[in-house]
Parts: sequence; C-alpha cells; structure tokens
Amino acid sequence: MALIVQKFGGTSVGSVKRIAQVADKIKKFQDAGNHLVVVLSAMSGETNRLLNLAKAISGDEQPLPRELDVILSTGEQVTIALLAIALNKRSVPAVSYTGSQVSILTDSAYTKARILRIDDRKIRTDLQAGRVVVVAGFQGMDEQGNITTLGRGGSDTTGVALAAALKADECQIYTDVDGVYTTDPRVVSAAQRMDKITFEEMLEMASLGSKVLQIRAVEFAGKYSVPLRVLHSFKEGPGTLITIDEEESMEQPIISGIAFNRDEAKLTIRGVPDTPGVAFKILGPISGANIEVDMIVQNVSHDNTTDFTFTIHRNEYDAAELILQNTASKISAREVIGDIKIAKVSIVGVGMRSHAGVASRMFEVLAKEGINIQMISTSEIKVSVVIEEKYLELAVRTLHTAFKQDAPVQQCE
Ligand code: ADP
Ligand code: ASP
Ligand code: MG
Repeated sequence: MALIVQKFGGTSVGSVKRIAQVADKIKKFQDAGNHLVVVLSAMSGETNRLLNLAKAISGDEQPLPRELDVILSTGEQVTIALLAIALNKRSVPAVSYTGSQVSILTDSAYTKARILRIDDRKIRTDLQAGRVVVVAGFQGMDEQGNITTLGRGGSDTTGVALAAALKADECQIYTDVDGVYTTDPRVVSAAQRMDKITFEEMLEMASLGSKVLQIRAVEFAGKYSVPLRVLHSFKEGPGTLITIDEEESMEQPIISGIAFNRDEAKLTIRGVPDTPGVAFKILGPISGANIEVDMIVQNVSHDNTTDFTFTIHRNEYDAAELILQNTASKISAREVIGDIKIAKVSIVGVGMRSHAGVASRMFEVLAKEGINIQMISTSEIKVSVVIEEKYLELAVRTLHTAFKQDAPVQQCE
C-alpha cells in the first residue's frame, strides 16, 4: 500500500466543478488502495484578491505582515473544507486541517516563513483509520501560535515537506501543465515536456523564474530525497520526474531549459569612492532591510571611483532605492540611478559542466537579434543575462530555437 502526497494548485481547485473533479480523481486513488494526503492551494486568483484587500485598507502603508498572513491563509481554508465535503459525499472518509491544526511549525518570518518541523502524529492516525487527510497548503504556525505563510507558490513546499515528514512513496504536484517543460509553454509553444530533470537543474530553473515549482519545495525534495513528480491535474500522462541522478548518456542535452523572470529591477550607485569595504557599505543596509540582492557588478575604477550595480525583486525597488540614496549621501557617491524595466533570461543545464562555449553561443544568439546584454552572471550549470524587459519574449524564443529546437550545441565544443 503506497502513501502518496498529492498537491493541487489554484487553477485545479479554481471552481466548485474543478474541486468535484479533484474529488473524483482522489476517489480512484483511494479505491486503488493508496493512503493519501492531499494538499490544496486557494482557488486561483484568491490569494491576489486577499492581498489587494489588505493593500486597499492599508493605503500608503505596507500591510502589517502578521495580519497579512492571517488574511492570506484563509484562501486555502475554503478549498480544503470544500474538498473534504466533496470526498465524504462520495463515501470517501476525509478530514481537512489548516497548517496549524497539523502542527506545521515555522519560523516567524511572516509572508516568507520556513518550515521547521511537522508533527505527523495526527495525520498518521487518520491515515490508519482509512481517512484521506486534506491539508491547507502555504501556511503554518510559529512557536507562539501565530499564523504564518510560506511565500507565493508555497503550497508546493507544504506538499513536499509533508511527503518528507511522512516518508511518502511519492509527492505528486498536480497543476495546469502536464510536466516541466524546456521553457514556459505559455511563452514558447514549441517548448517540450521533459520526462526527467535533475534536482539541481530544477532548483536553478525555479530560482531563475520558472514558477512551476516553488524553489523551497525543490530544495526540500532534494535534501530529503523525496521522489517528486509534476503532472497535469486532469489529463493522464507520466508528467516530469525530478531525479537525483545525472545520466551519463550521449543523448543528454547540454541545455535542459530556459528560465526567465520579469520581476527584477536594477539599481546603480555611481561615482563611489573605491575604498576597501565599499561593497559592504552599499549592500549591508540593503540586506539589513531583508532585501535580497541577486546579481552584482562592480566596475573597474576610474580616478579612484567606481560604479556599483545590483538587481533586486521589483516589489522591493522603492525600499531599496531609498536606502541606496541614503548610503550615497553618506559615502559621497555621485548619484543613484535605477531601472525597473529589466528582465533576466537564463539557460540551465548540467551538461554545461563538460562543454565550453555555451555562454558565448548564448551571447551570439542574442546579438543576432540586436538584444543588448546589461549584466551577466554564470555558475557551473547556468548562464543568466539581464536585458530590457521588452525583448524578453523574443530572447526566450530565439534561445529556445537555438538550444532546444535546432540543437546546434555540438558546435560549441
Ligand atoms: P499552480 O497554481 O498549479 O501551482 P503555477 O501557476 O504556480 O500553478 O505553475 C504552473 C505554471 O508554471 C504553468 O501554467 C506555466 O505557465 C508556468 N511555467 C513556467 N515555467 C515552466 C516550465 N519550464 N514548465 C512548465 N510550466 C512552467
Ligand atoms: N495560494 C498561494 C499563492 O497563490 C500558495 C499557492 O498557491 O501555492 O501563492
Ligand atoms: Mg504554483
């Protein structure tokens, strides 16, 4: 008898009709003799609606993070109860729980809390009694009993964390696409579903903008070796398995996928006196405000001054700019300039480790389209570039054609 954790995303539970379809699907798994824990998102659009309510009442101020989590966590409470009702109606014994009811203990970082521990006793008792356990995704509780949420897309992480705690045979992430594609199939219609992708590649894809899986879910699955599969909620198919092994096959592509992210913004502080500790003086206050910095570039200095550029999430642009203006006056920098109309495109693949010339091929492809590269960063298995946002789709499409459709990668060697 297998123990499976199944997570259904927002569009899969976006209406009463869809929830009924999910219930039918779960009944089949239950009838086949599996133990099931089901994690749900809120109905699609609901988390945004709740967020907008909180913003509307806050006016110019940021909503209080603690209260934001209280409201944001309600979306999932609705879907879990509806599914439990639908299952019981189908004579499938089922019980729904919020994150705090099953003791998903997190830290207190409201809106982006991390799961610390899960007390699985209650779930195990229900499973033993033959019940399907339906758990609200995206939420937990801190040591003081405050409600917390896990960051956008966080239901994936709830699913994987429960699968890890229960040592489930598989964690299945059901969504509105039938697997992980070489790039977002909504942007490139020629994108191809992959049968398998390594954790390492999936981690890069997720962190570089492929929101099909939340990055923390992939981290968790890798750390605790949770077998993880992405599947379509309502279409049959094998989906995509996230695997540990890198196959040593001749067929293995050098680039597995192309990821992109529109949510970036860039800040530059110019004419900075180039003295030891200057990077810390600039970025210390930014990280002190809990703002995550992504790419960083410091220019070669001229006349003992330099320019320093970094990227951040677009939502945090205003806060970061204010801090940087403050720093600029303290360290006598010339000026601060910023740009919120940028985007990041990345090519990802473990095959890059053993092949040279992949980055220059990427730059060549973009140059042929007249797309200017503003920043570059590389790691062992990825190359990322920052470009003007208006060229994003063109860049993704042409890179996909070059690396995945025409597959001219052999020329890189
Ligand atoms: P859910 O609500 O089920 O969690 P999400 O919207 O979070 O669904 O994630 C699924 C979406 O991820 C797809 O509709 C697709 O547009 C997007 N996506 C981005 N990159 C990829 C990719 N490489 N493969 C598959 N889907 C991707
Ligand atoms: N409902 C939350 C969100 O929209 C969590 C999730 O769907 O995974 O981000
Ligand atoms: Mg999601």
